[in-house]
Amino acid sequence: MSYNENLQAIEDKISEAAKRSSRDVADVHLVAVTKTVDVVAMEKLYNLGIRHFGENRADVFTEKVEAFTDKTDIVWHFIGSLQTRKVRAILPYMHFLHSLDRKSLADEIEKRATQKIACFLQVNISEEETKHGFNAEEAIAFVKAQNYEYVEIVGLMTMAPNTDDEQTLHHVFQGLKAVQLEIEKLGIPNVPCHELSMGMTNDFEVAVEEGATFIRVGRALVEEN
Ligand SMILES: *Cc1c(COP(=O)(O)O)cnc(C)c1O
Repeated sequence: MSYNENLQAIEDKISEAAKRSSRDVADVHLVAVTKTVDVVAMEKLYNLGIRHFGENRADVFTEKVEAFTDKTDIVWHFIGSLQTRKVRAILPYMHFLHSLDRKSLADEIEKRATQKIACFLQVNISEEETKHGFNAEEAIAFVKAQNYEYVEIVGLMTMAPNTDDEQTLHHVFQGLKAVQLEIEKLGIPNVPCHELSMGMTNDFEVAVEEGATFIRVGRALVEEN
């Protein structure tokens, strides 16, 4: 399959999942996760209409941003674990941070930023030991306690366990949605928390059914099979 066919197949699946859950497909943004491909591949995706790109390593992120300085309509998403000492380098280019997984990282962003930075709190709904992020109670406590000027919590992000069990996936995504609604309801300044970043190649259809507004898809888009 070509990138074009991959993209078409993904968009069809997004539309069907949106329809099944009576959602507007325009509310679902596809972030192309390009961590495994080079800028030539990204250029092809751009020419197919992709505007949201996601990367997970700070040095590669910066390189790729620099390769596309002429394309000012790209929205750059940082989706990986971010070391505090890398914050300064990527901050000027990052439109969304999906992986705000600890207070010390938020503190560093607050210290370095000169404009608002849209962040997703990473929440470990499945509470797997290997996963980063706040658990549900910690996320709620964190937003209540914080008082940032530049760190804007636009939503929540999670990574589901690596399973094909749909019931587990529904459960995890419903769990994230429940925490999102709870935080949104608090009406905290700088914490709109309207968005849900959830769903990857294996589970984005379930995520869309459960309310994802940003899905992060790599392999289904860039693997030529
Ligand atoms: C790699 C990655 C993705 C994309 O995963 P695929 O299974 O290739 O779709 C999404 N989110 C994060 C945080 C990732 O690291």
